[in-house]
Amino acid sequence: MSNIIAVSNQKGGVSKTTSTYNLGACLSHKYNKKVLLIDIDPQANLSEYLGYEPDGTETMTQLIMSACMTGSVSCDMVKSTIRHCDAAKVDYIPSDINLASSESLMTTALSRETILKRILTEDITKEYDYVIIDCLPSLGTLLINALAACNNVLIPVQTQKFSMDGLQALEALIKQIRNTINPDLRIIGILPTMTDRTLISRTALTTLEEIYGELLFETSISKSIEAAKSSESKKPLCCIDCKLATEYNSLAWEVLKR
Ligand code: ATP
Ligand code: MG
Repeated sequence: MSNIIAVSNQKGGVSKTTSTYNLGACLSHKYNKKVLLIDIDPQANLSEYLGYEPDGTETMTQLIMSACMTGSVSCDMVKSTIRHCDAAKVDYIPSDINLASSESLMTTALSRETILKRILTEDITKEYDYVIIDCLPSLGTLLINALAACNNVLIPVQTQKFSMDGLQALEALIKQIRNTINPDLRIIGILPTMTDRTLISRTALTTLEEIYGELLFETSISKSIEAAKSSESKKPLCCIDCKLATEYNSLAWEVLKR
């Protein structure tokens, strides 16, 4: 079974997309892993980072609509939405703004929690060592679908004020999904992001260590302008000589070990 990791935190702007992209790029560039990235956020930030430009062809939106209406999606249709990003050396399924309306359609579909699971069938995922899903900042149907379709959750937490807000709600949801539709679900790790030398950041990191112990990754990701530069230039951090490159490399190594 491939490793399917959902990168989630319903809090916005905590570095989910940046971490999805750069973890995927590192696993591919540095460790030769075959990686598929999945964008299930209607903001489509990951798709843009990967260099996707809407071209009228099918995206995650049509896959979800089709699964909602007929209950399943053919493997060929899913394969037709898979693109390749040369810079990150990964395959991906893009999203677009219309995914927001598919989410409303999902709420009335039968077995609505497992729609994404029926899209990411074994026939698709077996081609990859890692499938990484970039989630949207909400606890809605799309997030539930990601948690039902994956076996690991990676939770980036920004080490700033209010950073722990909402983590309990996310953990409760993970537990509920584990107890119902996805017994294999586990938290692969909590990733401190945007750390700096301020007291707020250091205190948040200490609190995370106290609460989560070994669940916390040893790696934390510093606050650096290189993150924004990388998404602007669409060049993965692991191909740039900077501190974040080393940090994402060590995160990739920890993910491989866990
Ligand atoms: P959303 O919840 O909206 O999907 P997100 O959790 O995916 O947001 P990102 O889009 O990855 O967060 O990052 C939010 C912003 O913070 C972006 O402008 C990004 O460039 C910046 N950023 C991400 N990681 C870092 C970092 N380590 N240091 C500084 N800025 C960062
Ligand atoms: Mg995002």
